[in-house]
Amino acid sequence: MQDTKALQVAVVGTGYVGLGTAIMLAYLGHQVVGLDVDQEKVEMLQRGELPIYEPHLDQLLQDSSSRLRWTTDYASAIPNADVIFICVGTPPLPGGQPNLAYVADAAQSIAQNLNGKLQVVVNKSTVPVGTGDWVARLIEEYAIDYHANRYLVVSNPEFLREGTALGDSLYPDRIVLGSDSPAGIDRLVELYQPLLDQQFEAPAYVPRPDGYTTPQLVTTSLSSAEMIKYAANAFLALKISFANEIAGLCECVDADIQEVTRGIGYDQRIGPQFLSAGAGWGGSCFGKDTAALISIGREYGYTMPILTAAVEVNQRQRQVVISKLQQHLHRLKGKRVAVLGMAFKPNTDDLRDAPAHDCIARLADLGVQVVAHDPVAMPRARQEWGHLRYQEAASAAEAMRGADAVIIMTEWDEYRQIDWSSAPRGMRNSLVIDTRHVVPDNCTMGVVERIGRRLTDPLAMQVP
Ligand code: NAD
Repeated sequence: MQDTKALQVAVVGTGYVGLGTAIMLAYLGHQVVGLDVDQEKVEMLQRGELPIYEPHLDQLLQDSSSRLRWTTDYASAIPNADVIFICVGTPPLPGGQPNLAYVADAAQSIAQNLNGKLQVVVNKSTVPVGTGDWVARLIEEYAIDYHANRYLVVSNPEFLREGTALGDSLYPDRIVLGSDSPAGIDRLVELYQPLLDQQFEAPAYVPRPDGYTTPQLVTTSLSSAEMIKYAANAFLALKISFANEIAGLCECVDADIQEVTRGIGYDQRIGPQFLSAGAGWGGSCFGKDTAALISIGREYGYTMPILTAAVEVNQRQRQVVISKLQQHLHRLKGKRVAVLGMAFKPNTDDLRDAPAHDCIARLADLGVQVVAHDPVAMPRARQEWGHLRYQEAASAAEAMRGADAVIIMTEWDEYRQIDWSSAPRGMRNSLVIDTRHVVPDNCTMGVVERIGRRLTDPLAMQVP
């Protein structure tokens, strides 16, 4: 389709990052094979089905399918590839260090299938500094005939956000390429040329944002690129924890965090993003990456007090929702509470480290009957949250019926469409704990509590 010089690409790991990467590169005109060890996932993809929910990814998949194939077989994916991406998971171990076992497995399997021509192995997984060199050593160790192989290792951290992954991939702020070999960077520049020049037809369903021109290309050493990803996530996590810490003080002094963050966000040195107070950050990255940085520091005897505090604030924040409920309802045992939103953010089905998980777990421990709803993530919750005690509701209205309180944990559009001026009518008590600022300010029905605003007088609660 596009005038791209097509490269052969293998993407190892077809999770949230690998899938987006594979499909986006095929859309740009490259020939891509996506590889995963999860047979079920690969079979779904071979049938044209997606194993995750991400807006418009199904359309981009359809538009790129002639240049895409899926396999579990390294021998059919690696030998022909000019560029091989490692996109496997790096989940946290109990001490906070990232588990690099999947990266090691992938590197070994890649090594055993190199073709003797120049191939570039790109690490897109988030990994500690030094992992690129370690991957190179693993390849050296496991390659069938190491001396016949010429390969280069590049770090190309990923900055996409679930829920807006396509826009983030097609119109990134920057592309970071780290390598100690210029030839490795050159090949990646060739691969990303359509993105760097924005020389591709923007899909109608993910239009180029107004004013967007081209991304910044940032070339660095291998280790700097590895550090950039952690530093970026840590900074974003800090911003959220900062907003949450100020939110707590706002409640003490009778200020409103929404007004405060609006007031500071217009300062260009601060910016408005990631200042949204709520039940704390979640998702697969912030918790894991802050823990990883702190644990890497520990290895060097280097303390990271700012990050450590950000993590503590985040843990405390998850309790705030429960405290607000207790302040209104006092004893929670036997109460019925609706939880709206389970995914860690809207437009994804990802439940990893979702604040809703801790909220449901704590409520259930306190003897609350929890009725939960999510427009997309309920099937995944059935698989992953089997250890939690809650009932599923088919709709938000069903969850709220007869409830003593509703807690909004995820700002799905569907919840914004609810007529909040009458919705609490079917509830036993009209108490809404709105952690995501979904309920309009002019809502007149019941008591709406938000994070970062002094509690409404608990006695003022209306019973509809
Ligand atoms: P994921 O868990 O969704 O996907 C990982 C995939 O790798 C799984 O499908 C798994 O089956 C597969 N896999 C594991 N071992 C394999 C092997 N040896 N060979 C082939 N496939 C294998 O993970 P994710 O969310 O896509 O994250 C991947 C990496 O990208 C992580 O390091 C993460 O920190 C980073 N990252 C994630 C995001 C995000 O929003 N999810 C954003 C930026 C960076």
